[in-house]
Amino acid sequence: LAEAKVIAERVRAAVRAGDPRRFTASLRVTASFGLAALDDSIEEHTTLVNRADKALYAAKAGGRDRVYDWSMIERGLVQGSISTLDPHAETQPRRDESAEAGEAGNDSVHHRIRELERIAEEKAQQLDHYFAYDSLTNLPMRQLFADRVDQALLTAERRDSVVAVLSLGIEDLARINATLGHEYVEEMLRETARRLSGALRTTDSVSLFSEDDEGAHLSRLNDGEFGVLLGGIRDRESITWIVKRMFDALQEPFFVNQHSLNISSSVGIAVYPNDGNDAATLMRKASVSLYYADQQPGHNVVEYYSDDMNRMSREQLHIESELLEAIDNEDFLVYFQPQIDLATKAVSGFEALVRWNHPTRGVLPPIEFIDIAEQSRLINAIGELVLRESCTRLREFDQHSSQRLTIAVNVSPVQLSQPNLVERTLKILEETGVEPDRLELELTETCLMENLDTALDSLSQLHDAGIRISIDDFGTGYSALSYLRTLPVDTLKVDRAFVADIDTSSDDHAIISAIVSMASALGLDVVAEGVETQEQLKALVSMDCGLAQGYYFSRPVPAEEAVAYLQENAEPEQPTTMQLASWK
Ligand code: C2E
Ligand code: CA
Ligand code: CA
Repeated sequence: LAEAKVIAERVRAAVRAGDPRRFTASLRVTASFGLAALDDSIEEHTTLVNRADKALYAAKAGGRDRVYDWSMIERGLVQGSISTLDPHAETQPRRDESAEAGEAGNDSVHHRIRELERIAEEKAQQLDHYFAYDSLTNLPMRQLFADRVDQALLTAERRDSVVAVLSLGIEDLARINATLGHEYVEEMLRETARRLSGALRTTDSVSLFSEDDEGAHLSRLNDGEFGVLLGGIRDRESITWIVKRMFDALQEPFFVNQHSLNISSSVGIAVYPNDGNDAATLMRKASVSLYYADQQPGHNVVEYYSDDMNRMSREQLHIESELLEAIDNEDFLVYFQPQIDLATKAVSGFEALVRWNHPTRGVLPPIEFIDIAEQSRLINAIGELVLRESCTRLREFDQHSSQRLTIAVNVSPVQLSQPNLVERTLKILEETGVEPDRLELELTETCLMENLDTALDSLSQLHDAGIRISIDDFGTGYSALSYLRTLPVDTLKVDRAFVADIDTSSDDHAIISAIVSMASALGLDVVAEGVETQEQLKALVSMDCGLAQGYYFSRPVPAEEAVAYLQENAEPEQPTTMQLASWK
């Protein structure tokens, strides 16, 4: 028995290790063994067979891929009482020819049939998987991918949203195959699949998919071609940034058996509804576009099926590269808009608002570039320039005011997920000599709510360091207010949409008035944004709003003009440029 066991174990192990080319991850083959040996108690050869059989069932019931022998069952080491599965159960001397025995036999035959059906079902599923999924990368293959595209199209039709189908081609596989061999190509493909899935999974502050996101699906279409389905994307612009993430993911060298290898890839893209409304058409057009991309010189070429999309995407990437240059050349200006303390009528501080001093297009407002800066992460560098410039200028403003001026700086959600945001911010404060409690960071409600997990940590650290946190565009983003208790917040900035109609709409009047009293109860400051007229100002003063900001006082202006404004309006109760005396 011991010798038989050694042999059985050896066979079992060999089957399990298998031939990796035949037994893939999606189709595993294992073997179980039941052993029995002759002894004195055995009078019939069938008993020997039955015992071995019983041990085999125990081995399978015990989890498969194992070797059991009859003595283990006899000694109670393993469960042998699986008689329901066992057609040859060594049932007591039931060898009499009674009708009962016939029924029992029938029963066990039925059990056996059911068992076999279950196994057949299991195998069929494994085979389905085998044909639907690529055994090398374990990704869905063409047919399953097409099904998913069709599903995404149904959803998109209902929701009136955009679907993109991408063909991503890896270019250097033939070369690697010729020089290093097929194993290298296979490993590269596996690693490519891993990296692409990672790039598509990344969930971070700049969401590229719409809320009820269909997400992205990766598939292996053929040798060096991957398919990517982007369902429910926020807008067409997002596609460019998703593609860029995929390229970035493939940029780093691949290490296979101590070889460092690089690949380059191209992408062809078809978009619903522009280019078609069924999977076959979109997939074909994506492939055709990939073909055109491959014809072009250079790496990482993206080609859309439609010219409009090509133009749009090139424009986005063009602005991105210009922004990169602008960061190098520090081509950004910071404009300052004064904030007025409505009780003392003095300038209490400034909000810093960035401008791009473009070499040919002139001074550009944030709407022209902030979105692209966020998507490409360049906002981190721009934000740092703005913060440094703002703090430096604050020290300059100090010389023209007797107030303890504050500086409010806008922070993008992308910056919040920067790992060293807190250190960098504190370092700039230290270098410029600005006390932390004179800096206020402005974040919008939506930004906070969409990134609560990452945000809370950095925010608490910033707040603990003494920096003030302000909720920008308050009232527009989020309906629940309970977050005000959990987040470290110091100031609410009432969105200018409410201020605009404060003197004509009783609703807006009531909303601002409610925000002011709530803030006061919670010990928060309130800034009313976008004050343009004296009527608006009067309404705000009458409800005891603390601070105000808007064109009525001043537009955002370059630092020199901010100094001039301060010199005229810095001191309490001595307003000159405005008839502040007539407020009440
Ligand atoms: P925001 O933070 O809500 O800034 C207020 C915007 O309202 C500014 O536009 C300002 O010029 C404008 N504004 C101020 N007073 C009035 C008024 O009385 N009437 C009207 N109609 N508008 C007024 P701007 O400078 O174009 O900035 C737009 C947005 O860009 C800002 O909205 C902010 O979200 C973003 N932004 C600006 N600078 C930065 C920055 O340095 N970093 C980041 N991440 N975002 C910034
Ligand atoms: Ca702001
Ligand atoms: Ca605002």
